[in-house]
Amino acid sequence: MSYAYKVKPGDKVRLSSFDPKEHAGLSKDKAKDLTEDLGTEMASLQELLFAAGQTSLLIVLQGLDTSGKDGAIRSILTYANVQSCRVIPFKVPTSEELAHDFLWRVHRETPRSGAVSIFNRSHYEDVLIVRVHNLVPKQTWEQRYQQINQFEQLLISSGVLILKFFLHISKEEQRERLLEREKDPTKAWKLAVADWKEREHWDSYMDAYEDALTRCTTREAPWHIVPSDHKWFRNLAITQCIVESLRPFKDEWMKHLEKMGVEAKKELQKYRNGETGN
Ligand code: AMP
Ligand code: MG
Repeated sequence: MSYAYKVKPGDKVRLSSFDPKEHAGLSKDKAKDLTEDLGTEMASLQELLFAAGQTSLLIVLQGLDTSGKDGAIRSILTYANVQSCRVIPFKVPTSEELAHDFLWRVHRETPRSGAVSIFNRSHYEDVLIVRVHNLVPKQTWEQRYQQINQFEQLLISSGVLILKFFLHISKEEQRERLLEREKDPTKAWKLAVADWKEREHWDSYMDAYEDALTRCTTREAPWHIVPSDHKWFRNLAITQCIVESLRPFKDEWMKHLEKMGVEAKKELQKYRNGETGN
């Protein structure tokens, strides 16, 4: 069973029908054990992805403030080989970025063959915060859903696997987490008045997310809704989804690596036989 809900093309997403507290009946300890096992498998699949160098992986993390994007990234990086993995946080665009189309800053951060890019926020902010705060006219953000789908299609046809996660937390859990930050001196640096202000727009964000998840789910780049009130369940659901998306490629990558190995041995043999110039 999949712990995250995979949105299907044609689904009309209603976030209120997904329970952010869902944990599939698992205890925290059990979930952590499962995550550990899946994480180990993820590490070996990532190694094959890198070595075969045919495919790349783009992980998009979206969610409201305190939904756990940073925590999810820390969890993935526990297992990932960071030599071929990059994390890219997308902040308020600079004036240089605003002077270009909205995908300009995003496209150049997409992963090269064999690599993994993790987006902490993404091009989706351009149909989320931008829409909620009317940062551009409606006519402009309306076109972006289709533009995003076309952009993602371009990436897919160039060998990029795209996994998009919406970290779904409840409004009460967000309140708890914001208050927690005030109490914990190691977390207080994250406090921002903006987070409390954004919270006033909760319903508009839900509407904007529902539209993004509905309109930008394609067969090859679907959204996954991750119940995130329990951090340990969130980590499990994401790790499972990554592993299950990479697993089907395993045989293909292994075959490619074997072929590369045969070629490499041939070259070595030639060298030993004194057939090469060097
Ligand atoms: P944080 O993730 O807490 O570091 O905050 C980054 C902030 O940048 C968030 O409030 C985002 O909504 C905002 N942001 C990211 N991308 C955009 C964008 N394209 N336009 C406007 N604000 C953005
Ligand atoms: Mg923030």
